[in-house]
Amino acid sequence: MHYGTLKKHKSYLLSRKNQLDLQGRLLELAHDAIIVRDPESNIVLWNQGAEHLYGWTAREAMGQITHTLLQTRFPVSEDDVQNILETKGYWEGDLVHTNREGEQVIVESRQILERDARSKPMAILEINRDVTERRRLEVIERKLQAEQKAKLDFLQLIIDELPVGIYLVRGLEARFVLFNRATTSVWGAEVKPGQPLKEFMEDNNIKLLGANGQELSFQQLATYQAIMTGANIYQFQEVVRRPDGSVLPILVGAIPLKRDDAPYRFSHDLFTGIDPDERLVLVVHQDVTILKKTEALKEEFINLATHELRTPVTVLAMGADMLLARSARGHGQPLDVRQEKIVQDMRQATRQLSKITEDMVDATRLQVGHLQVKQKPTDLLVLVTQVIDRLQLTTPIHQINLHTSVDKLCVFIDADRIEQVLANLLSNAIKYSPQGGPIDITIKEETRTNEALLQVKDGGLGIPANQQSRIFGRFERADNVKAMHIGGTGLGLYLSRELIECHGGHIWFESEEGVGSTFCFTLPLCSENLS
Ligand code: ADP
Repeated sequence: MHYGTLKKHKSYLLSRKNQLDLQGRLLELAHDAIIVRDPESNIVLWNQGAEHLYGWTAREAMGQITHTLLQTRFPVSEDDVQNILETKGYWEGDLVHTNREGEQVIVESRQILERDARSKPMAILEINRDVTERRRLEVIERKLQAEQKAKLDFLQLIIDELPVGIYLVRGLEARFVLFNRATTSVWGAEVKPGQPLKEFMEDNNIKLLGANGQELSFQQLATYQAIMTGANIYQFQEVVRRPDGSVLPILVGAIPLKRDDAPYRFSHDLFTGIDPDERLVLVVHQDVTILKKTEALKEEFINLATHELRTPVTVLAMGADMLLARSARGHGQPLDVRQEKIVQDMRQATRQLSKITEDMVDATRLQVGHLQVKQKPTDLLVLVTQVIDRLQLTTPIHQINLHTSVDKLCVFIDADRIEQVLANLLSNAIKYSPQGGPIDITIKEETRTNEALLQVKDGGLGIPANQQSRIFGRFERADNVKAMHIGGTGLGLYLSRELIECHGGHIWFESEEGVGSTFCFTLPLCSENLS
């Protein structure tokens, strides 16, 4: 060979050697196990990554049969892997190997078949990445997800069987998250997950009406109020006008979930994408058609009874008043002490009778939509103080306290009707705390919702939990007070709720048997000034 050519060839060999050294060092640097085996599966290269992963040194591994050394378990048969390698030239998949310590190692394996110039298989390159921990976590994750799904499915099964509509909405737009079968029958339309309540109602031409028959705006709905205020709303009366025009009276409960109750932790599809800042509200729709029908039956009786009662009661009351007045003025035969006591008792009894009759008349008027309220700006504080003063005189064993930080609160109300509500709540607090004690009335101005909030709290008998949902119904009375023979008609709360809702407010309570009750209601503040 010519000297110059020889020199060139030498330098070519040198640079080729350097290149190979570099590649060799790179192989050693890799974290992955890199193995090269000949067509007979004898190991011909075993890098440091392989030493680290499997525990055998390169010297020990060289010449061994890969799958015997590593006790390889394939996801498909070994022959299939071989076939794919031969036809496609590469194969990818998970393998289970056993390391020197006898522990199982899961690897993500990529294999390439190298062929020589005559296309004969020459070597197989294998890069194995340790995914043991990742796969273990994935199995746990999958198991957890399956458990959660099973729990949710079970929950769905239960709530689907309930006769009340139950659904969960999220965020300001009240998007449906979860709902049961009865939800669809209450609305009369198919609910779609993720759809905002407003859009759902508009798409299906569904309207919600209030107790007075007027259409409620979206902001007035119990669900939306619970979303906005974060407060629990119970027993809110709404009427659903469904796509086919039929109407369904319902009682709505809307309960915002507490952060800890909320299923943000669930990785189930249903809850993914829920922003933890979005409020989740559980809504319950109770169909009260049957209740209303039963009430209609009572209607006829009340109608008859009230009209037949009113006149004789008035005659009796007037007679007793006249007798007492004549006796006081010295007209006719004077009444002796015993007679006067009897006439006074008669007058007291006729007053009670007249109150019951008037309540019944109001209830009837309400039923036929004839109860009217004449609203004007009124100072709620003055009204409350008058009722407190009047009722405090009726009980020496209770102390009625008023708590408020305002000295005037203008509400737009029919003062007689709200006085009736106040008197009813306060006399109930007195009547159902037979042991006496404090009764606390709190008045607050809720500037955010532009409402007055009034609470009447007693430490009396309370209402048994299983009877609370129907206590606003007509003639509904709890068993505990009936058992103690405390008199009443069960009309006061019914009328109170109708009257408060006629004013655009709402009324609810919290009560625990043996601990006491707190009745609350709201009234819209008036924009005008008091005259
Ligand atoms: P009434 O008092 O004439 O029975 P209401 O409609 O005013 O009728 O009340 C309905 C029922 O609600 C009562 O019979 C009683 O069982 C329960 N209730 C109302 N207020 C209270 C209260 N403050 N404490 C305990 N129970 C109450």
